[in-house]
Amino acid sequence: MRLGPRLVIATHNAGKLAEIAGLLAPLGLEPVSAGALGLAEPAETATTFAGNALLKARFARDQSGLPALADDSGLCVAALGGAPGVHTADWAETGAGRDWAMAMAKVNARLEALGPGASRQAAFHCALALALPDGTEAVFEGTCRGTLVWPPRGTRGFGYDPMFVADGEQETFGEMEPARKHAISHRARAFARLVAALAE
Ligand code: IMP
Repeated sequence: MRLGPRLVIATHNAGKLAEIAGLLAPLGLEPVSAGALGLAEPAETATTFAGNALLKARFARDQSGLPALADDSGLCVAALGGAPGVHTADWAETGAGRDWAMAMAKVNARLEALGPGASRQAAFHCALALALPDGTEAVFEGTCRGTLVWPPRGTRGFGYDPMFVADGEQETFGEMEPARKHAISHRARAFARLVAALAE
């Protein structure tokens, strides 16, 4: 699969945009954000990460005429039946912007309501979708398993990072050096698959 230098990153999330730009830098691609192009955001109506990523990539490609890359990601908590899942960002909605401290507290409260023995296992999932002007489409997925801690720790990263400790790690994603997170995260794993496909 071949890409020109300009690639629309179909996200309006500044945290994701920064991470994706960092992951794309070694590929010699020139990321252009959907926000900078004034593109609208489609409603995320699919029930899977892959479905929502494709919907966002297609929408950005169709509006810009450029190759587009979209990320749909979220946190799945086993004891909560996989919630918040594709609704991860919604759990932070306040009506006046997103409040991640509130969203993390909500996840923790739901786990506490299950009792002290409730499993704190969770996983971040990421689906990356590419949609090219010639109609080529592909999805690459990655997962990072870990445990949820309380209280949250660290001020790095974004979203639920301060309450997530990846398997085999001591620090939360909120405490970790960004380079370490980028080496092991769900997004990095999905990216590795994307990069392999671009090399073919
Ligand atoms: P969406 O993909 O834009 O629907 O939003 C997914 C949400 O999942 C983000 O807004 C974050 O809150 C959360 N999320 C996804 N990836 C990460 C991550 O690497 N760290 C922390 N939270 C994440």
